[in-house]
Amino acid sequence: MKPDDNLNLLDLSADELQRLVVEWGEPRFRAAQIWRWIYHTLTDDPGEMVNLPKDLRRRLEEETHIGRLEVVGEAMSEDGLTEKVLFQADDGQLFESVLMRYTNRNSVCVSSQVGCPIGCVFCATGNQGFTRNLTTGEITAQVLHFARKLAEENAHVTNVVLMGMGEPLLNFDNMWQAIMNLNDREGLALGARRFTVSTSGVVPGIERMAHESFAVGLAISLHAADNALRDKLVPINRTYPLDQVMDATRFYIERTGRRVTFEIALAKDVNDSIDHAQAVAELLRGMLCHVNLIPLNPVPGSPYLPTPKEQVMRFQEILVQARIQTTIRLARGTAIQAGCGQLRGQHLPK
Ligand code: SAH
Ligand code: SF4
Repeated sequence: MKPDDNLNLLDLSADELQRLVVEWGEPRFRAAQIWRWIYHTLTDDPGEMVNLPKDLRRRLEEETHIGRLEVVGEAMSEDGLTEKVLFQADDGQLFESVLMRYTNRNSVCVSSQVGCPIGCVFCATGNQGFTRNLTTGEITAQVLHFARKLAEENAHVTNVVLMGMGEPLLNFDNMWQAIMNLNDREGLALGARRFTVSTSGVVPGIERMAHESFAVGLAISLHAADNALRDKLVPINRTYPLDQVMDATRFYIERTGRRVTFEIALAKDVNDSIDHAQAVAELLRGMLCHVNLIPLNPVPGSPYLPTPKEQVMRFQEILVQARIQTTIRLARGTAIQAGCGQLRGQHLPK
């Protein structure tokens, strides 16, 4: 534990920051100034907040901190487009984030938990068990890390996907507050369309998101269209079976008008047959949705193998025939273990 286990300003909402500042006997607008320093100028040092009175700066330094995460590992894909960072939290916990650069956007894949309690069979995060939820500040800080880095190149974070380690809907409050803080107009100002939350099917969380007035992108990790197989691959299916997941997803679409994404990680001879594809087509026919096929990424020690390319394409063809928009997700950063399902929060082997 570091000595400064004082208040992390990144854990606060804009209102909470304002309350703090007012409690300290300062005018409200000081909170807006601090907010801009943190989320617009991207500083983590109150000493740099030159438009604040010295006393306030000192108090911020003494009683708070702006939780920058310690970087303990970095890996870059050969093409320089995918970058994985291993962070260490104040209590020593390790977790990872990935920056993916595309032509017109820079997407950050953030973690919401250390490990994951769901335990999907082909996922490296799931295989390591669950340690704890990340705080709002720890989720936000992952994005700020890359925002600072990109700012040096005059570039910005354009998208945030909650697809790193952990099940974001089991850490709803912290995840949602982080999204709200990153959305704030005086800071990074990322709009609702810039966020995607991916879930293994935590039905109460999907319903909660549907009731929010802020409609982010929703991705459902489907993987199989029948309960027997899904029970095995995504164990939370035993708690929230497919029909409940589908009802909640339809409710989300109805409330938000947004097209949802269904992710299917294809594992050889497990969920990738023509029959499996037809079952998915039946399940999703007519829905406002999009399917993302992810040929399984290799996970050390896992018996699951990726579906060969031709079979992935046959699977896609069946969905397309059913008029379901289907794309194949490009493998990104798999050589540096930065692909979907590969994050473990461990140092890379040297
Ligand atoms: N916990 C959330 C988000 C993180 S995982 C969820 O499960 O949705 C992001 C995506 O990667 C999910 O669709 C997940 O099922 C998928 N995935 C897990 N392991 C994988 C692997 N080995 N190869 C490819 N995709 C995988
Ligand atoms: Fe958790 Fe998602 Fe991995 Fe499943 S795929 S174990 S829900 S991180």
